[in-house]
Amino acid sequence: MKIGNAYGAGKFGLSYEIFPPKTEAGEEQLFLAIEELMAFRPSLVTCTYRVGGSSRDKTLELTVKIRETFRVSTAAHLTCVGSTVEEIRKWLKRATELGIESIVALRGDPPKGETVFKPVEGGLAHAGELVALIRQEFPHFGVGVAGYPETHQEAPSPEADLANLRRKVGAGADVVITQHFYDNRDFFAFRERYTAAGISRPLVPGVLPPVGLDQTQRITSLCGAKLPASLASEMEKHRDDPAAQMAVGVEYAVRQYRELVRSGIPGIHFYVFNKAEATCKILEALHLPR
Ligand code: FAD
Repeated sequence: MKIGNAYGAGKFGLSYEIFPPKTEAGEEQLFLAIEELMAFRPSLVTCTYRVGGSSRDKTLELTVKIRETFRVSTAAHLTCVGSTVEEIRKWLKRATELGIESIVALRGDPPKGETVFKPVEGGLAHAGELVALIRQEFPHFGVGVAGYPETHQEAPSPEADLANLRRKVGAGADVVITQHFYDNRDFFAFRERYTAAGISRPLVPGVLPPVGLDQTQRITSLCGAKLPASLASEMEKHRDDPAAQMAVGVEYAVRQYRELVRSGIPGIHFYVFNKAEATCKILEALHLPR
Protein backbone atom coordinates (compact mmCIF):
# COMPACT_ATOMS: atom_id res chain seq x y z
CA MET A 1 0.00 0.00 0.00
CA LYS A 2 1.33 3.42 -0.94
CA ILE A 3 1.42 6.19 1.63
CA GLY A 4 -1.50 7.99 -0.05
CA ASN A 5 -3.78 5.05 0.76
CA ALA A 6 -2.55 4.53 4.31
CA TYR A 7 -4.73 7.17 5.99
CA GLY A 8 -8.36 8.25 5.89
CA ALA A 9 -10.93 7.47 3.21
CA GLY A 10 -12.92 5.10 5.39
CA LYS A 11 -10.05 3.81 7.50
CA PHE A 12 -7.98 5.18 10.32
CA GLY A 13 -4.27 4.93 9.49
CA LEU A 14 -1.69 3.98 12.09
CA SER A 15 1.97 4.41 11.21
CA TYR A 16 5.27 4.08 13.03
CA GLU A 17 8.53 5.85 12.30
CA ILE A 18 11.77 4.05 13.11
CA PHE A 19 15.42 4.91 12.48
CA PRO A 20 18.26 2.70 11.24
CA PRO A 21 20.21 1.46 14.28
CA LYS A 22 23.99 1.76 14.25
CA THR A 23 24.72 -1.74 15.56
CA GLU A 24 23.53 -5.30 15.03
CA ALA A 25 22.28 -5.42 18.63
CA GLY A 26 20.28 -2.25 17.96
CA GLU A 27 18.74 -3.85 14.90
CA GLU A 28 17.77 -6.95 16.88
CA GLN A 29 16.10 -4.71 19.48
CA LEU A 30 14.31 -2.83 16.72
CA PHE A 31 12.86 -6.00 15.20
CA LEU A 32 11.66 -7.16 18.63
CA ALA A 33 10.00 -3.78 19.11
CA ILE A 34 8.31 -3.88 15.70
CA GLU A 35 7.06 -7.38 16.44
CA GLU A 36 5.24 -6.04 19.51
CA LEU A 37 3.98 -2.99 17.66
CA MET A 38 2.54 -5.15 14.86
CA ALA A 39 -0.20 -6.28 17.29
CA PHE A 40 -1.95 -2.96 16.57
CA ARG A 41 -2.02 -3.62 12.81
CA PRO A 42 -0.23 -0.56 11.45
CA SER A 43 -0.93 0.60 7.90
CA LEU A 44 2.65 1.73 7.40
CA VAL A 45 6.14 1.75 8.90
CA THR A 46 8.51 4.51 7.76
CA CYS A 47 12.30 4.49 8.06
CA THR A 48 14.27 7.71 8.52
CA TYR A 49 17.28 8.81 6.47
CA ARG A 50 20.58 10.26 7.62
CA VAL A 51 23.73 11.04 5.71
CA GLY A 52 27.08 9.70 6.83
CA GLY A 53 28.76 6.33 6.35
CA SER A 54 26.40 3.74 4.96
CA SER A 55 23.26 5.33 6.45
CA ARG A 56 21.66 6.11 3.09
CA ASP A 57 21.84 2.49 2.00
CA LYS A 58 20.76 1.34 5.45
CA THR A 59 17.46 3.19 5.02
CA LEU A 60 16.78 1.27 1.80
CA GLU A 61 17.89 -2.04 3.29
CA LEU A 62 15.74 -1.69 6.42
CA THR A 63 12.68 -0.46 4.52
CA VAL A 64 12.76 -3.68 2.50
CA LYS A 65 13.65 -5.94 5.44
CA ILE A 66 10.79 -4.64 7.58
CA ARG A 67 8.33 -5.03 4.70
CA GLU A 68 9.43 -8.61 4.07
CA THR A 69 9.72 -9.68 7.71
CA PHE A 70 6.41 -8.27 8.90
CA ARG A 71 4.38 -8.14 5.66
CA VAL A 72 3.62 -4.49 6.31
CA SER A 73 3.70 -1.54 3.90
CA THR A 74 6.77 0.62 4.32
CA ALA A 75 8.11 4.00 3.19
CA ALA A 76 11.70 5.25 3.02
CA HIS A 77 12.57 8.81 4.06
CA LEU A 78 14.91 10.79 1.81
CA THR A 79 16.51 14.21 2.40
CA CYS A 80 18.37 16.68 0.16
CA VAL A 81 21.34 16.83 2.59
CA GLY A 82 24.76 16.27 1.05
CA SER A 83 23.51 14.86 -2.27
CA THR A 84 23.59 16.15 -5.81
CA VAL A 85 20.53 15.62 -7.98
CA GLU A 86 22.41 12.81 -9.73
CA GLU A 87 23.01 11.04 -6.41
CA ILE A 88 19.37 11.50 -5.43
CA ARG A 89 18.30 9.98 -8.79
CA LYS A 90 20.61 7.03 -8.24
CA TRP A 91 19.13 6.40 -4.78
CA LEU A 92 15.58 6.66 -6.13
CA LYS A 93 16.44 4.20 -8.94
CA ARG A 94 17.73 1.76 -6.35
CA ALA A 95 14.56 2.26 -4.27
CA THR A 96 12.52 1.48 -7.39
CA GLU A 97 14.50 -1.71 -8.06
CA LEU A 98 13.92 -2.79 -4.45
CA GLY A 99 10.16 -2.37 -4.86
CA ILE A 100 9.89 0.47 -2.34
CA GLU A 101 6.50 2.07 -2.88
CA SER A 102 6.64 5.36 -0.98
CA ILE A 103 9.08 8.11 -0.09
CA VAL A 104 8.82 10.67 2.73
CA ALA A 105 10.52 13.60 0.97
CA LEU A 106 12.36 16.08 3.19
CA ARG A 107 14.94 18.79 2.96
CA GLY A 108 16.83 17.75 6.11
CA ASP A 109 18.45 19.90 8.80
CA PRO A 110 21.55 22.09 8.52
CA PRO A 111 24.66 20.43 10.00
CA LYS A 112 25.26 20.84 13.76
CA GLY A 113 26.31 24.38 14.65
CA GLU A 114 24.81 25.90 11.47
CA THR A 115 21.43 27.60 11.32
CA VAL A 116 20.99 27.91 7.58
CA PHE A 117 20.66 24.99 5.19
CA LYS A 118 23.08 25.14 2.26
CA PRO A 119 22.55 22.66 -0.55
CA VAL A 120 25.63 21.03 -2.07
CA GLU A 121 26.54 22.23 -5.56
CA GLY A 122 24.15 20.54 -7.94
CA GLY A 123 21.82 19.66 -5.05
CA LEU A 124 18.32 20.72 -4.01
CA ALA A 125 17.45 23.58 -1.65
CA HIS A 126 13.91 22.67 -0.55
CA ALA A 127 11.76 19.60 -0.05
CA GLY A 128 9.37 20.98 -2.68
CA GLU A 129 12.07 20.54 -5.32
CA LEU A 130 12.57 16.95 -4.20
CA VAL A 131 8.83 16.26 -4.45
CA ALA A 132 8.80 17.74 -7.96
CA LEU A 133 11.78 15.59 -9.00
CA ILE A 134 10.09 12.45 -7.70
CA ARG A 135 6.79 13.26 -9.39
CA GLN A 136 8.43 14.05 -12.74
CA GLU A 137 10.94 11.23 -12.92
CA PHE A 138 9.66 8.56 -10.51
CA PRO A 139 5.86 8.98 -10.64
CA HIS A 140 5.24 5.46 -9.29
CA PHE A 141 6.18 6.49 -5.73
CA GLY A 142 3.64 7.61 -3.15
CA VAL A 143 5.01 10.77 -1.47
CA GLY A 144 4.70 12.11 2.07
CA VAL A 145 6.02 15.49 3.27
CA ALA A 146 6.50 17.25 6.62
CA GLY A 147 4.20 19.93 8.11
CA TYR A 148 4.77 22.10 11.19
CA PRO A 149 1.84 22.95 13.51
CA GLU A 150 4.13 25.31 15.48
CA THR A 151 5.79 26.65 12.26
CA HIS A 152 9.19 25.49 11.01
CA GLN A 153 12.06 27.15 12.89
CA GLU A 154 13.56 28.80 9.81
CA ALA A 155 10.29 30.11 8.37
CA PRO A 156 9.89 33.89 8.58
CA SER A 157 6.20 33.52 9.44
CA PRO A 158 3.45 30.91 9.77
CA GLU A 159 1.99 32.22 6.49
CA ALA A 160 5.29 31.71 4.63
CA ASP A 161 5.61 28.22 6.08
CA LEU A 162 2.07 27.33 5.02
CA ALA A 163 2.71 28.73 1.54
CA ASN A 164 5.70 26.38 1.35
CA LEU A 165 3.57 23.44 2.42
CA ARG A 166 1.07 24.32 -0.27
CA ARG A 167 3.91 24.30 -2.80
CA LYS A 168 4.99 20.85 -1.62
CA VAL A 169 1.48 19.49 -1.99
CA GLY A 170 1.10 21.32 -5.31
CA ALA A 171 4.29 19.59 -6.48
CA GLY A 172 2.60 16.26 -5.85
CA ALA A 173 2.74 15.16 -2.19
CA ASP A 174 -0.02 12.71 -1.23
CA VAL A 175 0.09 13.09 2.55
CA VAL A 176 1.37 15.58 5.14
CA ILE A 177 2.79 14.22 8.41
CA THR A 178 3.42 16.77 11.13
CA GLN A 179 6.24 17.37 13.52
CA HIS A 180 5.27 16.38 17.07
CA PHE A 181 3.44 18.82 19.36
CA TYR A 182 2.05 18.61 22.89
CA ASP A 183 -0.72 21.17 22.76
CA ASN A 184 -3.59 20.15 20.51
CA ARG A 185 -4.59 23.79 20.11
CA ASP A 186 -1.49 24.24 17.93
CA PHE A 187 -2.58 21.36 15.71
CA PHE A 188 -6.21 22.47 15.50
CA ALA A 189 -5.25 26.05 14.58
CA PHE A 190 -2.79 24.72 11.98
CA ARG A 191 -5.43 22.40 10.52
CA GLU A 192 -7.83 25.33 10.15
CA ARG A 193 -5.23 27.35 8.26
CA TYR A 194 -4.31 24.28 6.18
CA THR A 195 -7.91 23.74 5.14
CA ALA A 196 -8.48 27.45 4.56
CA ALA A 197 -5.42 27.45 2.25
CA GLY A 198 -7.24 24.87 0.13
CA ILE A 199 -4.93 21.94 0.97
CA SER A 200 -6.94 18.75 0.86
CA ARG A 201 -4.38 15.96 1.36
CA PRO A 202 -4.65 13.93 4.59
CA LEU A 203 -3.03 15.83 7.48
CA VAL A 204 -1.63 13.24 9.87
CA PRO A 205 -0.41 14.29 13.34
CA GLY A 206 3.06 12.99 14.13
CA VAL A 207 3.30 12.20 17.84
CA LEU A 208 6.24 11.71 20.17
CA PRO A 209 4.92 10.34 23.46
CA PRO A 210 6.51 12.42 26.27
CA VAL A 211 7.70 9.42 28.26
CA GLY A 212 11.18 10.49 29.37
CA LEU A 213 11.86 14.07 30.45
CA ASP A 214 15.43 14.43 29.17
CA GLN A 215 14.72 12.95 25.76
CA THR A 216 11.48 14.90 25.36
CA GLN A 217 13.13 18.19 26.33
CA ARG A 218 16.10 17.60 24.05
CA ILE A 219 14.15 16.65 20.93
CA THR A 220 11.45 19.23 21.50
CA SER A 221 13.92 22.08 21.83
CA LEU A 222 16.01 20.85 18.86
CA CYS A 223 13.05 21.16 16.54
CA GLY A 224 11.58 24.27 18.13
CA ALA A 225 8.42 22.68 19.53
CA LYS A 226 6.90 23.61 22.94
CA LEU A 227 6.78 21.37 25.98
CA PRO A 228 3.95 22.59 28.24
CA ALA A 229 5.36 23.77 31.60
CA SER A 230 2.73 21.78 33.53
CA LEU A 231 3.77 18.53 31.82
CA ALA A 232 7.49 19.24 32.30
CA SER A 233 7.05 20.01 36.00
CA GLU A 234 4.87 16.92 36.55
CA MET A 235 7.64 14.79 34.99
CA GLU A 236 10.34 16.69 36.88
CA LYS A 237 8.75 15.52 40.16
CA HIS A 238 9.84 11.99 39.14
CA ARG A 239 13.32 12.97 37.94
CA ASP A 240 14.91 9.81 39.44
CA ASP A 241 12.14 7.39 38.59
CA PRO A 242 11.93 6.58 34.85
CA ALA A 243 8.90 4.29 35.35
CA ALA A 244 6.94 7.06 37.07
CA GLN A 245 7.99 9.53 34.34
CA MET A 246 6.72 7.11 31.75
CA ALA A 247 3.40 6.74 33.60
CA VAL A 248 2.95 10.53 33.60
CA GLY A 249 3.84 10.71 29.90
CA VAL A 250 1.56 7.85 28.89
CA GLU A 251 -1.37 9.37 30.77
CA TYR A 252 -0.77 12.74 29.09
CA ALA A 253 -0.41 11.15 25.66
CA VAL A 254 -3.59 9.10 25.96
CA ARG A 255 -5.58 12.23 26.88
CA GLN A 256 -3.97 14.24 24.09
CA TYR A 257 -4.44 11.60 21.36
CA ARG A 258 -8.03 10.79 22.40
CA GLU A 259 -8.90 14.40 21.75
CA LEU A 260 -7.13 14.28 18.37
CA VAL A 261 -8.97 11.11 17.36
CA ARG A 262 -12.32 12.62 18.39
CA SER A 263 -11.53 15.65 16.22
CA GLY A 264 -11.54 13.47 13.10
CA ILE A 265 -7.85 12.97 12.19
CA PRO A 266 -7.28 10.52 9.28
CA GLY A 267 -4.64 8.61 11.24
CA ILE A 268 -1.72 8.99 13.62
CA HIS A 269 2.03 8.65 13.07
CA PHE A 270 4.09 7.56 16.10
CA TYR A 271 7.74 8.52 16.38
CA VAL A 272 8.53 5.30 18.22
CA PHE A 273 12.30 5.77 18.53
CA ASN A 274 12.78 2.03 18.00
CA LYS A 275 11.07 1.14 21.29
CA ALA A 276 7.69 -0.48 21.79
CA GLU A 277 6.76 -0.12 25.46
CA ALA A 278 5.31 3.40 25.61
CA THR A 279 3.58 3.22 22.23
CA CYS A 280 1.99 -0.14 23.10
CA LYS A 281 0.72 1.17 26.45
CA ILE A 282 -0.80 4.19 24.73
CA LEU A 283 -2.37 2.17 21.92
CA GLU A 284 -3.86 -0.32 24.38
CA ALA A 285 -5.56 2.54 26.19
CA LEU A 286 -6.61 4.41 23.05
CA HIS A 287 -8.70 1.76 21.25
CA LEU A 288 -8.23 3.39 17.86
CA PRO A 289 -11.11 3.29 15.38
CA ARG A 290 -9.68 0.65 12.98
P1 FAD B 1 11.22 22.28 3.58
O1 FAD B 1 9.81 21.97 3.26
O2 FAD B 1 12.14 22.52 2.44
O3 FAD B 1 11.19 23.60 4.51
C1 FAD B 1 12.37 24.04 5.19
C2 FAD B 1 12.29 25.53 5.45
O4 FAD B 1 12.41 26.25 4.20
C3 FAD B 1 10.95 25.98 6.05
O5 FAD B 1 11.20 27.04 6.93
C4 FAD B 1 10.16 26.45 4.84
O6 FAD B 1 9.15 27.36 5.20
C5 FAD B 1 11.25 27.05 3.96
N1 FAD B 1 10.99 26.91 2.51
C6 FAD B 1 10.65 25.80 1.84
N2 FAD B 1 10.52 26.04 0.52
C7 FAD B 1 10.83 27.32 0.35
C8 FAD B 1 10.93 28.17 -0.79
N3 FAD B 1 10.67 27.70 -2.02
N4 FAD B 1 11.28 29.45 -0.59
C9 FAD B 1 11.55 29.92 0.65
N5 FAD B 1 11.47 29.16 1.77
C10 FAD B 1 11.12 27.88 1.62
N6 FAD B 1 15.17 14.85 8.95
C11 FAD B 1 16.12 13.98 8.53
O7 FAD B 1 17.30 14.34 8.45
N7 FAD B 1 15.80 12.68 8.18
C12 FAD B 1 14.54 12.21 8.24
O8 FAD B 1 14.29 11.04 7.93
C13 FAD B 1 13.51 13.11 8.69
N8 FAD B 1 12.21 12.70 8.76
C14 FAD B 1 11.23 13.60 9.13
C15 FAD B 1 9.89 13.18 9.13
C16 FAD B 1 8.87 14.05 9.51
C17 FAD B 1 7.44 13.59 9.49
C18 FAD B 1 9.21 15.38 9.92
C19 FAD B 1 8.13 16.32 10.40
C20 FAD B 1 10.52 15.80 9.91
C21 FAD B 1 11.55 14.94 9.50
N9 FAD B 1 12.89 15.33 9.45
C22 FAD B 1 13.87 14.44 9.03
C23 FAD B 1 13.27 16.70 9.84
C24 FAD B 1 13.32 17.68 8.64
O9 FAD B 1 14.35 17.30 7.75
C25 FAD B 1 13.58 19.08 9.19
O10 FAD B 1 12.47 19.52 9.92
C26 FAD B 1 14.05 20.13 8.19
O11 FAD B 1 14.54 21.25 8.93
C27 FAD B 1 12.98 20.65 7.22
O12 FAD B 1 12.61 19.71 6.33
P2 FAD B 1 11.34 19.95 5.36
O13 FAD B 1 11.24 18.79 4.48
O14 FAD B 1 10.15 20.36 6.12
O15 FAD B 1 11.91 21.23 4.52
